[in-house]
Order: sequence, then structure tokens, then C-alpha cells
Amino acid sequence: MSEYDYDLFVIGAGSGGVRAARLSAELGARVAIAEEYRIGGTCVIRGCVPKKLLVYGSSYGSEFRDARGFGWACDKLAFDWPTLIGNVRREVDRLNGVYTRTLEKAGVARFLTRAVLEDANTIRLADRDGTISARTILVATGSHPVIPDVPGREHLITSNECFLLEKLPASLVIIGAGYIGMEFASIFNGLGVKVTVLYRGDQVLRDFDMDLRDGLAEAMRNRGVDLRMDTEIASITKEGEGYRVHLKRGDSVAAGLVMAATGRIPNTQGLGLEKIGVALGPNGRVVVDEFSKSSVDNIYAVGDVTDRKNLTPVAIHDANAFAETLFNGTPTKVDYSVIPTAVFSQPEIGTVGLSEEKARELKGQGAIDIYKTSFRPLRSMISGRDEKTLMKLVVDMKTDKVLGVHMLGPDAAEIVQMAAIALRLGATKDDFDKTMPLHPSAAEELVTLRHKWEMPAPVAGSDAAA
Ligand code: NDP
Repeated sequence: MSEYDYDLFVIGAGSGGVRAARLSAELGARVAIAEEYRIGGTCVIRGCVPKKLLVYGSSYGSEFRDARGFGWACDKLAFDWPTLIGNVRREVDRLNGVYTRTLEKAGVARFLTRAVLEDANTIRLADRDGTISARTILVATGSHPVIPDVPGREHLITSNECFLLEKLPASLVIIGAGYIGMEFASIFNGLGVKVTVLYRGDQVLRDFDMDLRDGLAEAMRNRGVDLRMDTEIASITKEGEGYRVHLKRGDSVAAGLVMAATGRIPNTQGLGLEKIGVALGPNGRVVVDEFSKSSVDNIYAVGDVTDRKNLTPVAIHDANAFAETLFNGTPTKVDYSVIPTAVFSQPEIGTVGLSEEKARELKGQGAIDIYKTSFRPLRSMISGRDEKTLMKLVVDMKTDKVLGVHMLGPDAAEIVQMAAIALRLGATKDDFDKTMPLHPSAAEELVTLRHKWEMPAPVAGSDAAA
């Protein structure tokens, strides 16, 4: 008889928590999990999955317009938000059921309530008296949206509330131009909402490759999104049925709804972590070592709560490694060196490895070769869509290794996922060149990029020109 009720108690049933709980149970551990909202977590319930369904839903408008050139008559289009959001919610419910049954099948005990730590081995559940004990605790509580600290912040919604809207607003202001800002601006724009994005920086998607940033901003503007850079918010006030966003430079923008897409912070508040000596870093993230262990020996953390790379597949890899390490006797570290990522904006971005700017910073200004192309996809020749696809390789001049693959255009996420395998295997530009193209495709451009991009010669300064 063990001295503890469970070998493992997981707090948070999102992508990381569910994976860790299931695998650990399958490896023979006695496991329990607590979740205060819905099993599935952000990704499944109000993040990646329902968002991607909204992306599909919002793309049809432009698809129908494109179809005309191919002979389809699509003149009487009508869109019904309740149908789309109703179907999205049904799919989320289905997935919630799938995740719940997965845990059930693995023999994981489930507590649908908030859990807090009393000490390093004792958990108190909000919906009952008494406590539960466990040898190991895994904190997998994820993150939540940050709401900027401006007067009128109570008027702001976040991406969470977008899935609860019963009707679409006529106009939407989005604050922030990161992943969520770009994705939701595209979704609502595609559904016919007038969208304005207000961003404090000088170009969208900080830290992405500059060609992607410029290309996406131009394409989104051409699709009708009002992107305003160097724009800071002063306050938000209620105005009639909607709101008014006042800007620091003096003017203002009216909107039916205002959404903050200003980042996310780890969910560590009120869990009792500080009290038992778990070291927390900036924004309250749990500080962990390469085996996801916190500063307290039996307490581990995976996923967004550790604020390493806040992406679902990373949380899942963290969770796999955790279960292997703790319950399969194989100490396992996660390799974070090659992480592909996509922004499901319209058009879409797929990217893996170093941006041109980062590569120049790390390897030296003259140590990088750039290969890039920008072209109208075959389909657009008939659809009439005037939007270019961009592809770019960042190559180490000395070793010929491909350091980064970047794409803006249809299927970028699908294509870059495959390119990530090549990068992980250390592929060189020569390997790309020797790969037989698949024709006719867009992706073949990645293996037929023959000419190095030359930095334009400096333009004669105004003095010289004078
Ligand atoms: P991001 O960090 O991507 O972007 C936040 C944006 O808000 C930036 O433009 C930032 O500006 C701006 N911002 C931050 N604080 C303020 C403030 N106080 N006032 C005004 N602007 C502000 O966060 P998101 O919310 O878009 O997404 C959260 C995370 O979720 C992502 O980082 C990603 O890890 C994950 N995610 C991943 C997705 C995917 O894989 N496709 C999709 C959605 C989310 P600045 O650049 O100047 O800091």
C-alpha cells in the first residue's frame, strides 16, 4: 500500500496535462487530474482547433469569388454566423468528449474542479472537504490572455469570448498584431466585419522574418483590413451600442467590439506554488529544468505555464518526455531546436528556423545567403486574385546548411511542416537543389531556387543626387 493516494496528480487538463496523465497511467502509474473549466484546455476548447475551424469558415467568401473565373456562378452568397459558430461548438463538445473518454480508458481519475496545493504532496479540491495526496505533482495549468492596463479595459473582449459571440459585430478593433491579432483580424474580415488593427510597433508580427511581416501586412491591407502601426491606446469608452477607442496621439476609432490580442501569461496565481517554495519567473511562470522539474523535487510543470515556447505541440512533447522520465525509467529531454510554426492569417504564414535578421545577427552580416521568390500561384491566373506567394530560404554560406524556411501563401503551414523535417536532418541548400520537384505545385519552388538574392546597392544619398 502506497503512502500516497496517487503516484501523479496533474493540475490542468489541456494538451500537456491530458497527454502526461494518459501516458503515465498507461505506463502503470496511479493518476488523477483536476480541471476547473473543460477537459481539452485552451487548444481544444477556445484556441487552435475552434480557431482553425473559423479560419476555414471565413475563407469561403473569397473562395467563392475566386470560383467565378473557373465558371462557377456564385452570385447569391449568404453567410449565417449562428450556423458556423453552432457547428464549431458542436465539434468542440465532441472533442471534449473524446479527451474525457481517453482519460477514462487509461484509468485516470478526473476531478472537474479547481485544485490548489497545500504542501508539496497535498492537493485541496475546491468542491469537497478533505485533501488528496500524491507523490508527484504536474502543473499544466496553461496561460490566460493579458488585458492591457488602460482606462476602460473592462470593455475589452479576448479571443476566448469570440467563441461565445451570438452575433457578429459590424466592426471590430483589435489591439495587438501577434499571432492572435493577425488570425482573428483575418477571420472577422473574411466574414464581412470591418476590422481595424491597432499596433504599437512599426510592423506586424515582431520577431518573424521581415519579408513575411511586410508581405502579410500588404496582403491583409489589400483584403480590406485597416492595419495601423505606431498606434498606442489611451482609453476605451462606451458609445451607443458599441465603443470608442481613444488613441494616445489624439484621434479615436469607433467599433462594435474591441478585442485585446496582447499576449498571454502563465496561470500560476492562487495555486499555492510560492507557499511551498516553487520558484516562479517573470510573469509568474514556473521555472523548470530540462526535465520540466521545478525548484521543488517532486513538482513538475509543462506547457504554457512554463512560458518556454507557448505552442500546443511543444506542451505535448514536454508531456511525453515527462512521462518517459518519471514512469518509464528513461530520462528524456525535449529538443526545442527546430520548431515550425504557422500564423493562420489570410494569407497564411508557415515558418521554421532562423529569420534572415536573426541569422545575420547570430552568424554575421555577410555569412548568410538568401534565396527568395515571389509569384502569383497558377490558380490566381484564372481566379484573378492579385496576391503573391512568398518563399524564402536562409542559408549558412560556410556550411551550406538551410537555417530557415519561410513562406507566405496558400498551404504555407502544410508545406513548412515537411520542410521542418529537412531542417531537423541538417539539410543543405544542395540537398534542396538535388530534390526532384513535384510539378505543378507551389512547394516545388523551394527546391528550384537557383539565384542568390543580392542586397540592393545603396541608393545614392540626397547629397550625391543633388
Ligand atoms: P503575441 O505575443 O503573439 O502578440 C501580442 C501582441 O500584443 C504583440 O503585437 C504585442 O506588441 C502586443 N502587446 C502586448 N502587450 C501590449 C500592450 N500592453 N499594449 C498594446 N499592445 C500590446 O500574443 P498573442 O496574444 O497574439 O498570442 C499569445 C500566444 O499564443 C502566442 O505568442 C503563441 O505562443 C500562442 N498562439 C499560437 C498560435 C499559432 O501557433 N498559430 C495562434 C494563437 C496563439 P509587441 O510586439 O510590441 O510586443
